[in-house]
Amino acid sequence: MPLPPRTGHAPFTVVNARVFDGIRVVDGLSVRIADGRITDVAPADGLVVAAGDETVDGTDATLLPGFIDSHTHPAGDALALALRFGVTTELDMFTVPERLGDQREQAAVRDDMADLRSASTGATVLGGHPSQLIGLSFREQFPVVEGPEDAARFVGERVAEGADFIKLLIDDGTATGHPSPSLTEETARVIARTAHEYGLLAVAHATSEQNALAAVRAGVDGLVHVYMDRPPRTESIARIRDAGVFVVPTLVTMGSMAGDLTGRAVAEDPRAHGLVPDAWHANLCQCWDFGEHPSSLRYAREVTAALHRAGVPLLAGTDAADVGVLGTAHGVSLHHELRLLVECGLSPAEALAAATSVPADRFRLADRGRIAPGRQADLVLVDGDPASDIDATLSLRAIWRRGTLLDRTRQAESA
Ligand SMILES: [Zn+2]
Repeated sequence: MPLPPRTGHAPFTVVNARVFDGIRVVDGLSVRIADGRITDVAPADGLVVAAGDETVDGTDATLLPGFIDSHTHPAGDALALALRFGVTTELDMFTVPERLGDQREQAAVRDDMADLRSASTGATVLGGHPSQLIGLSFREQFPVVEGPEDAARFVGERVAEGADFIKLLIDDGTATGHPSPSLTEETARVIARTAHEYGLLAVAHATSEQNALAAVRAGVDGLVHVYMDRPPRTESIARIRDAGVFVVPTLVTMGSMAGDLTGRAVAEDPRAHGLVPDAWHANLCQCWDFGEHPSSLRYAREVTAALHRAGVPLLAGTDAADVGVLGTAHGVSLHHELRLLVECGLSPAEALAAATSVPADRFRLADRGRIAPGRQADLVLVDGDPASDIDATLSLRAIWRRGTLLDRTRQAESA
């Protein structure tokens, strides 16, 4: 899709910054931006700043690609809130067409909100997850899949709605102790195969080990949660690795669903002060209570750590949805997730890659996720060095979407 005409912002060059290019840190680079794109990246003494360019001093700061949250459900003001914390792209993992159309139209023309890519509606069965949100997140029953013979029809409809990838849900309720109807492995296999015939990725929601392994056998490209109902077993981790799938652990939401984690730490961080609306602040400070179930944040972390040790690509995602889906908020929770990934054994640079170049590569977003000439100028400048201390990601000094500087305070006040 061509970019809309750019107006109102002059070319500029960030000078003397440490640069995290999506993979690694390089010191003392200058990065020039014009017409919403990165035009040059060069050593400080090797780049001629064009006459009339503004300069932005990056001394003692790190310039990074804007963050990609690889699992969300944006609605309402979500994409604006996301951008306020440096998330420049959200990957929407389940929505309904009218909401998708609205979010897409706005993101196409506005630089004060994050961009999105979407699965549109995910494939589930009647009464299957997330049917419990009908009447809350969803006004009415969404389309479902009846069985394998119905799967190609379902995928075709999502493609017609403009889905960027296909999502399916295998969830028999094991992880939360609430049995529910679920897509079968056979139906999932037809969905994944049909998605691939359209040239699209197929990704799966699964929160138990058994459901996750069924999704992997069905041929999906990625799992968009880590399982949390039991500790990692060598043979299960090896199967996931051997299948070549990526995993979006969404530890902030798994921890909340297990009843073990809230987002209070980031909600109360002074650097988030005044930037998180009250309703979202309250949402962050809560977690679910599903009663008796086998799941725990500890298992989710141990599985994440084992996947990482095995070499499975991990992507940072939050599963932030609406107020009422407890424990997260768009944008700020991504910073929480990055800390948790580091606690699971990723180096800070690996965690940063999990929120930039890795999702860009896996979801085929060739125009973003790295600092390189030609890429979209979705950028953040943070104080300090997040590649040695991940906590620094929240020290946001500047956020640019397509080269347009965000006024965070004004945006928060007008929300
Ligand atoms: Zn989700």
